[in-house]
Amino acid sequence: MIPAILPTYNRAPLSFERGEGAWLWTEDGTRYLDMGAGIAVNALGHAHPALVEALTDQAGRLWHVSNLYDIPHQRRLAGMLVEHTFADTCFFTNSGTEALELAVKMARKHFAARGADRHRIVTVEGAFHGRSIAAISAAGAPKMTEGFGPLLPGFTQIRWGDHDALAATMADDVAAILVEPVQGEGGIRALPEACLRGLRDLADRHGALLILDEVQCGMGRTGRLFAHEWAGIVPDIMMVAKGIGGGFPLGAVLAREAAAAGMTAGTHGSTYGGNPLACAVGARVMEVITAEGFLDRVNAVAARFRAGLETLSSAHPQVFGEVRGRGLMLGLKARAPNTEIVSRAYAQHLLTVPAGDNVVRLLPPLVIGDAEVDEALGRLDAAAAAIARAA
Ligand SMILES: *Cc1c(COP(=O)(O)O)cnc(C)c1O
Repeated sequence: MIPAILPTYNRAPLSFERGEGAWLWTEDGTRYLDMGAGIAVNALGHAHPALVEALTDQAGRLWHVSNLYDIPHQRRLAGMLVEHTFADTCFFTNSGTEALELAVKMARKHFAARGADRHRIVTVEGAFHGRSIAAISAAGAPKMTEGFGPLLPGFTQIRWGDHDALAATMADDVAAILVEPVQGEGGIRALPEACLRGLRDLADRHGALLILDEVQCGMGRTGRLFAHEWAGIVPDIMMVAKGIGGGFPLGAVLAREAAAAGMTAGTHGSTYGGNPLACAVGARVMEVITAEGFLDRVNAVAARFRAGLETLSSAHPQVFGEVRGRGLMLGLKARAPNTEIVSRAYAQHLLTVPAGDNVVRLLPPLVIGDAEVDEALGRLDAAAAAIARAA
């Protein structure tokens, strides 16, 4: 019999009752160290006092009015995003997938509004952009698309690192190049900074737009507010979600004025997108992440984590390979099956997240301290030792 919850997830037999910072408690009081942060969502950890205050304060005033009216928190959050990024304008969504939908629509409309027939979007193999038909068509991986056809036409996937194929596909019908600066689901694969700059140049030379999916790698995750800042380039359109709501469902599309030129009144909408609860929390998340010294602290703790992971990996060469990623978006290439490592880590009361390419992801809350990093390393070491003993 089919379970009451559609069985599309392989869930661990774990259930949590409350959280604080980087820690979660099950109902029987067992404490777990959270190095997954709800898949890079709980950027400020669990039950951050400033976020609890922002949400409960708004909850006592007003939950929802729709985008037929001005929403002060939404305006405030958009102002902060515009101030701190390349963007001139924002649209709020409830998820990363919805951000993808708008990014695709915006790129196509940008050209259509000028009478140009350019609609194709070039993406990279191993990408993840969400689970809607447009998002799976964009990523193109059979494990996501099989049985869901017909897919949306107009996407071309290029193999990772295949510069010749990329150059060859850049024809006059290409509206945009769409990439994650650091692939998350694909296995914490960071595009080298030179490649990101190369993509910016390529898009410019062809008059195409550059869309960055920073749903997972944005909002301070890599140690800069957005990952593309490391490469010194700016996109035309950027998708944001996950960390921006700190656990409250919220996403956004940020864009330069020219890129957004086709998006006039009536061309797009969302009933819930940017509602008062989500934006009250989102604005507080932005305040904390952009406060003086916050990202310096992320970079310092990330350096400690990375050095520890390198040591760990050398100590267990039969279990772990290379360390990947940037900031607190880290991955351990696994030599044992990554799912086995994740299960062994559960036994050590440590939460990690598997990714593609047999990688174990470490995406802790950005507020973790040195002691928690050391604790996580110790638990990973114990999990690896258990795998070695069992082998
Ligand atoms: C999670 C993710 C998405 C989809 O976001 P949802 O909120 O699950 O719809 C899109 N792109 C990237 C890079 C992601 O990590």
